[in-house]
Parts: sequence; C-alpha cells; structure tokens
Amino acid sequence: MLAALEGALPDGALVTDPDVVDAYRRDRAETVVPGMPLALVRATSVADVQAVMRVASAHRVSVVPRGAGTGLSGGAAAVDGCITLSTAGLRHLHVDPVAMLAVVGPGLLNAEVKAAAREHGLWYPPDPSSFEICSIGGNLATNAGGLCCVKYGVTTDYVLALDVVLADGTLVHLGGQTVKDVAGYDLKRLFVGSEGTLGIIVGATLRLRPPPPPATTMVATFPDVVAAGRAVVEVVGRVRPAALELMDRAAVAAVEAAKPMGLDTGVGALLLARSDAGGGGGARADEVGWITEACDRAGASYVAATDDEDEGEMLMAARRMAIPAVERLGTVLIEDVGVPVPQIPALVAAVEVVADRRDTAIPVIGHAGDGNLHPLVTFDRHDADAAARAEVAFDEVMEAALRLGGTITGEHGIGTLKVRHLAEQLGPDVLRITRAVKAALDPLGILNPGKWV
Ligand SMILES: Cc1cc2nc3c(=O)[nH]c(=O)nc-3n(C[C@H](O)[C@H](O)[C@H](O)COP(=O)(O)OP(=O)(O)OC[C@H]3O[C@@H](n4cnc5c(N)ncnc54)[C@H](O)[C@@H]3O)c2cc1C
Repeated sequence: MLAALEGALPDGALVTDPDVVDAYRRDRAETVVPGMPLALVRATSVADVQAVMRVASAHRVSVVPRGAGTGLSGGAAAVDGCITLSTAGLRHLHVDPVAMLAVVGPGLLNAEVKAAAREHGLWYPPDPSSFEICSIGGNLATNAGGLCCVKYGVTTDYVLALDVVLADGTLVHLGGQTVKDVAGYDLKRLFVGSEGTLGIIVGATLRLRPPPPPATTMVATFPDVVAAGRAVVEVVGRVRPAALELMDRAAVAAVEAAKPMGLDTGVGALLLARSDAGGGGGARADEVGWITEACDRAGASYVAATDDEDEGEMLMAARRMAIPAVERLGTVLIEDVGVPVPQIPALVAAVEVVADRRDTAIPVIGHAGDGNLHPLVTFDRHDADAAARAEVAFDEVMEAALRLGGTITGEHGIGTLKVRHLAEQLGPDVLRITRAVKAALDPLGILNPGKWV
C-alpha cells in the first residue's frame, strides 16, 4: 500500500518518519488516546487527495482527514493503521469583491480568510475563539461556531459551494456561486459538520458581507452564575447582540491567573456583550440600554460599557483565552452542550449540582447567547479516582443538556469523545438514516472510522 501511495504522490508528500507522523496523530482533546497511523500524507493539491482516496479504497485502508489539529473532540485523532491526510497544504484563495465571496482551499487559517476579506473592505464572520490557529477545512468539517454566531450565524450559513473528494477518489462540486439555489438536495450542507466521515473537503466558496458597524462592548458581573443565565434569557428574548459570552467565577480566576488584566476575581459570573446595532437613530444606545436593564433586573452587581475598540478587544481576548487558561489547572474534558436559551439558568444550575456530586471542578464558559456552554470538567489525570469522577461528570452534563431539550455538542463535534452519546440524542429512526447516508457515501467505512456511529 505504501509503495502504491508513493507512486501516486509527488515527492515529499508521503511521510513515514515516526516523529513527524506522531506530531499529526492527535488534536487538542487531551484525554483522547490516538492510534498509530501507517503514514502521513501532506496533500498540496486536489489530485493528491484523490490519489490517497483511490489507493485507500483499493487497499481498504482508513483515512483520517486533518486540518490544523485544534479540534476539541478527538475528530482528527488517528486510528491504528490509518493514513493521516493533512489538507493544510491546500491554500488557494481568490476573493471576488463584487460577488462578495471567497473561493478558498481548506488549509487556509480562518484568520487568513478574514484578513483577505478585510483587504477588500469585506468580512468573513464565523469566529471560533481559535480563529488564528484553526483551518477553514476544519471549520467546515465541524460547522464551527464562535463568538459572533448569536447574531451572524455559524459556518454553514456562509457556505455557497463545496468541492469534496469522495471515498473512491471522485471529485464532486456541490452548490455554486448563486445566493439562491434549490436544485436538488442541499448536499453541501450534508458535508458541513460531517467531521471527515463522508468525504474530504478540498475547496469552498464562502459568502462575505460588509463589515459590521463599530461595536460597544459591555461587561456585567453577577453574584452567581444562575443570575447571569437569567440575564442572558432576558437579553436574547428582546435583542440580538453581536456577542453574548459567559464566564463563571472559576473561569475568570483562571484567566486572571494566566494573564493578569484586572478582572474582578470575586464575582460569581461575568457576561460580555457586544452591540453593533446600526441604522442610526440611536439604535446602538437603545440596545446597550436594554442589555443594561436586563442585567440589572437579573441582579447584576456591576454593568459597564465601552466604545473604545482596544478595551473591547481586550475583554473579548480574555474570553478567548479561557480554555487555555483553565487547561493550566489540570486535564480538561471540554464540554460543548447546547440548550434552548430559556433553559440556560437550569443548565448552569445542573452543572453546579454535578460538580458538587462528583467533587470535580467544572468552570463554565460559553457562547451563552446561543445557548452553547462549555463546562470545563477539570481534574488531575494522575489521580485515577478523580479521573473516573470526571468521566461521570462529563456524561452527566450531557445528560442534563438532553433532559433540557438540548444537544451534546453545539460546535465542537462528536469526534471520539462523544460517540457513545450520539445514539441517545438521535434516537433509533434518525440513527438508521444516518447510517444509511454513511453507507451510501463510504461503503467501505474507511473515512474517519470510530467517529460517529
Ligand atoms: C483554544 C481553543 C478555542 C476554540 N474555540 C472554538 C470556538 O469558539 N468555536 C468552535 O466551533 N470551535 C472552537 N475550537 C475548536 C476547533 O478550533 C474547531 O473545531 C476548528 O473548526 C477545528 O479546525 P482544525 O483545522 O483545527 O480541524 P482539525 O482539528 O484538524 O479537524 C477537525 C475535524 O475536521 C475534520 N477535517 C479537517 N479538515 C478536513 C477536510 N479538509 N475535509 C474533511 N474533514 C476534515 C477532521 O477529521 C476532524 O474530524 C477551539 C479550539 C481551541 C484549541
């Protein structure tokens, strides 16, 4: 098989050096133990990807696609005997400012697409906190969310077309350059969020939009996290802020310890909100006023707003660094549950119960405006008992989200971490059609096996 791959690929694309292969074996899901690949392929063209899939199909070898490896669910974690297929080298980029779209390769970083759009006075909104280090291919494969999704939507809302290499090496073009297109099934959306289990994304046409007006950034503190949750419900019940992020006491303390910036570590929870309401007539002032009122009514101890962009960016940066900051405290099982927004107070209360019952630290952060929270189940991996309790806590948080009508993952994906919970969320009928779709597109089961169902 390796000889066939070598013959089908340009010099240097196939890597078997164990040290290099090892560096591509895992993503950022700390607790997932990856398998040992046979080889790594660093594709630099669509033809390379097609060659890999043809050889893999012929030899029935598994292929684990990989972008930048920043995933938090073990989606890009290698399985034994697989080919790890990196699409980081597919970096074509063309911006059409008149049509307001970008034709991109999956290997570009999200930040690079944003920067290219900005050069033309345009904006690519999806903004995972990891936007400076994650690839567009990974964003598409996980349907990544982020901070501005509450108002501007998630990755799939910006996808006009996808180029995908199927399991047998066939290249298909799905969608087109028109904003409206209802010819046939919307298959591109099937691939968005499919975590490399249905095909390899080798290109995309993404919608761009004019940049938003300047934002006012707000910070509100609360005596406890449930009160902050109540404020979120009130805010979203009336307006769509450009961001609405939550950090509880432990998360604020972790960020302040990692990078002192004067955050008040005595608070029970902190909300960060952004308003970029435009249209003149004081729309932004009205929105800021409403958010302030909602926070006050929910019991905020302090609310402040700034129009200073640097100050606003510093506050949002504090939120973005919350995951790495908590990771300094121990091993972290990163939850990604989502609930209908009115259920946020119940979810954060349930997380507190789980943390107490399992004697496990669970700092909570999240994109609260879309009901998507990241309880960070933190433990000492050298303490077997603590690790076992953390596993149970991780499961119990997912169970709580499902009980509240929510989802086990809002944006990070199923990956390896949540496979055993997917069936429970989908139920038998949806599971059956999910498996039928997988079998139709990957009959040999070689695409990212062990992930999904
Ligand atoms: C500090 C931090 C903060 C984060 N914040 C957010 C956040 O706010 N929102 C959010 O959504 N995520 C967040 N993430 C998670 C992660 O950055 C996203 O899931 C991101 O989309 C993964 O991109 P990647 O290029 O690193 O993909 P990888 O981790 O390499 O892969 C992710 C999945 O996509 C598949 N894949 C990758 N490329 C392809 C391809 N070309 N074709 C088919 N399948 C492919 C892989 O097999 C895997 O299943 C965060 C991560 C970190 C470390």
